Amino acid sequence: MDEKINAEAAVGTTRRRLMGAGLTGMAAAAASPAFAQVSAQPGAPAIIRGLPDFAIVGAGAFGGWTALSLREAGAKVTLIDAYGAGNPRASSGDESRLLRRSYGTREIYTRWAGRAQELWEARQEEMGRRLFYNNGSLRTMGADALAAQRATFDRMGVPYEVLKPEEVSKRWPQVNFDEYDAVLYEPSGGVVKAREAMIAVTETFMQKGGDSRIGHVTLSGNRSAPLLLDGAPMTAGVTVLACGPWLPLVVPKLLGDRIVTPRREIFYVGSPIDDHRYRWENLPNISDSHTYTAADVDYGTKVAARLRGVPMDVDDGQRLPSAFLRQQVEEYVARRMPGLAGQPIVATRICQTEVSDNSHFIVDEHPDMPGVWVAGGGSGHAFKMGPRIGEYLSRRLLGVGDDAEADKLFALSAHGPIKSEIRSTE
Ligand SMILES: Cc1cc2nc3c(=O)[nH]c(=O)nc-3n(C[C@H](O)[C@H](O)[C@H](O)COP(=O)(O)OP(=O)(O)OC[C@H]3O[C@@H](n4cnc5c(N)ncnc54)[C@H](O)[C@@H]3O)c2cc1C
Repeated sequence: MDEKINAEAAVGTTRRRLMGAGLTGMAAAAASPAFAQVSAQPGAPAIIRGLPDFAIVGAGAFGGWTALSLREAGAKVTLIDAYGAGNPRASSGDESRLLRRSYGTREIYTRWAGRAQELWEARQEEMGRRLFYNNGSLRTMGADALAAQRATFDRMGVPYEVLKPEEVSKRWPQVNFDEYDAVLYEPSGGVVKAREAMIAVTETFMQKGGDSRIGHVTLSGNRSAPLLLDGAPMTAGVTVLACGPWLPLVVPKLLGDRIVTPRREIFYVGSPIDDHRYRWENLPNISDSHTYTAADVDYGTKVAARLRGVPMDVDDGQRLPSAFLRQQVEEYVARRMPGLAGQPIVATRICQTEVSDNSHFIVDEHPDMPGVWVAGGGSGHAFKMGPRIGEYLSRRLLGVGDDAEADKLFALSAHGPIKSEIRSTE
């Protein structure tokens, strides 16, 4: 795969105006303390002359995977993050995320999720650590949405079943869906480790010769050197601002009204010591319209809840759970997973999504800053796509992109301002 990209990229870059200008402003930035021990291993991909130097800002699902894919394709890459890969403020910094292919009629994401799943499976082998747990997913939805989903899955050959609540109770007696007529079961779904995966991606990137640093990138206002790293001019052939929920702060004129960052609260509920019914081996994940769960991998049963319209201050916001959502989660657990009623909350995470107007991702070159790209707008569903995002974006940046549908959907021109909070598709 990499060799093919390299060969195509060498041709592709001659068609483009990408120039490697060196990362002179980065000398002052510190190597990430978390990764101080990781160094390039023998066999790391050689740097291909003629490719631009890349600076990737943000080591989350968008930036981390893109940095790794670019390095594997032979580019010189520096990955910069203000707080480090998997940090608790980042949207990719929670314990786990769900992987599913049900996206209604948005076939591109069904296709991407399928490809991402193949890549997760290959990557966990390569990285020597378990990152994907294939426990399936149960999803409730209205009759019209279910019909549309079935039509898409039938067309695309994605396996699924539609189960009556009695059948769900027969297979998984520990859950209760009595108020529904039918539930969609997608056997290929699963749980992906989030924070651990982002750390693994950065470590692998460094083992393959990538440079990872802690540093804060801002705009300078100067057209000839538009970016600053910790206050000093920063130059790279191509820079990707993959700053997740910080994007509206980093490029306010471009994305200030294009991405909102509503607060989300996650509660991990503990099982009794000898009760394994809610572990991933014994139960699929559950997606309801306002609340969803990830089965227990090693941190408790995850239950996510949302307060509509409450924005998160990404840098300075307190990340403590609210009594209101705690009560909502406890009521939900008592109804859907009665065996966990009254069990302790063993951990919480307060996150934010970075939602675009139509919940499509945003990937494009900055119209006023040639060579500077923005990549984000994950809208509550980008984590699972990380490996596919890396594959897609690296090819595109190397001039050998081959997904015109995604290019068009993710273009800045396909997005508009947000007037009120849009429901994300998590
Ligand atoms: C509660 C919740 C549940 C979700 N559930 C799912 C799910 O089940 N499945 C799924 O696929 N997706 C899910 N998502 C969405 C997914 O987690 C996000 O879309 C994805 O992680 C976003 O990745 P990112 O790289 O854009 O942003 P981030 O992960 O936030 O990464 C951005 C990084 O940029 C760094 N940074 C920011 N500004 C600067 C700067 N100026 N200089 C240097 N560094 C900077 C930050 O420190 C951060 O590490 C969920 C999100 C939330 C919040």
